[in-house]
Amino acid sequence: MVHLSVVVPCYNEAEVIGDFHTALVAALEPTGETFEICYVDDGSGDRTLNELRRLAADDTRVRYTSFSRNFGKESAMLAGLRMTAGDAAVLMDADLQHPPTLLPRMLDLHRHGYDQVVAQRDRTGEGALRTALSRTYYRLVRRCMDVEVIDGAGDFRLLSRRAVDSVLSLPESNRFSKGIFSWIGFDTVSFTYQNVERAAGESKWGGRHLLNYGIDGLLSFNSKPLRLAIHTGLCLFLSALVYAAYIIGNVVLDGVDTPGYATLLTAIVALSGIQLATLGIIGEYVGRIYHESKRRPHYVVSETDNRPRDFSPRAPLEAAGQARPTS
Ligand code: UDP
Ligand code: MG
Repeated sequence: MVHLSVVVPCYNEAEVIGDFHTALVAALEPTGETFEICYVDDGSGDRTLNELRRLAADDTRVRYTSFSRNFGKESAMLAGLRMTAGDAAVLMDADLQHPPTLLPRMLDLHRHGYDQVVAQRDRTGEGALRTALSRTYYRLVRRCMDVEVIDGAGDFRLLSRRAVDSVLSLPESNRFSKGIFSWIGFDTVSFTYQNVERAAGESKWGGRHLLNYGIDGLLSFNSKPLRLAIHTGLCLFLSALVYAAYIIGNVVLDGVDTPGYATLLTAIVALSGIQLATLGIIGEYVGRIYHESKRRPHYVVSETDNRPRDFSPRAPLEAAGQARPTS
């Protein structure tokens, strides 16, 4: 018997959330497991919160938290994981791009002892350019990063209790969950499913957002870019030494040569470019240190229904243990 918690971050998903909930319950009920659904409204501007209130009123297995503004999917997932009480938690998108019909299979793999079960999407139906860019990015990341991040392995995954606890024990405020999931380790298994188009509404991840997310990913899990800057600096220094030796040699052997201002200009432009880029990299890390050192909470909650957890077979035990004072 697995008590399952499903975590669903929602940002402007009023159009699909009802259908999603129906599909989710339809997929989970036949498994015979007890479950709870933790919805997190990430400061939506539409009727998402109303929908969540309605779902929670109709179904005791539903709980929700609503943020005071949009804090981003990472924060929403964190809030959702903090709400979970189950022996396992599943992270899912609300737009039906993560098919609930895969849940029984994930539960099955979990029962076989895996702490992380990853449903990995393929790239059917995606633009050729986006696919190519993502592929290149992941190839680059694999080379640079200390943790392994797999193409297509997104946030649709099941985590065991101890994996959830490990994720929650990481305090950083700049959260890059793909890296975090890989960092915590544990036995992981993955399977591939066919990519589905979003059911309604629109994606919140435009090109620039994705680019920033990519940079976040690269920087939040290693300091290799800094190392790269040092290597480049050293290489340049060495080549400058060789060039200087060559010039001196020329002067000694042939007398004074006409100075080439083109060489000079190229060197100056190249060097200042590299210096600027290096400064940028350092600045990015300093910014991150600044950000972390403020120790701000990850999100601000404006509304939540703190109903006691509804895992029917276990609820009386918990109530006996907590609610009755011993005096
Ligand atoms: N989401 C969120 N906060 C945000 C952006 C997205 O909670 O600021 C949620 C969104 O409601 C959805 C999931 O994250 O459940 C994935 O978002 P989306 O479908 O827009 O991303 P895509 O599938 O295009 O990568
Ligand atoms: Mg989506």
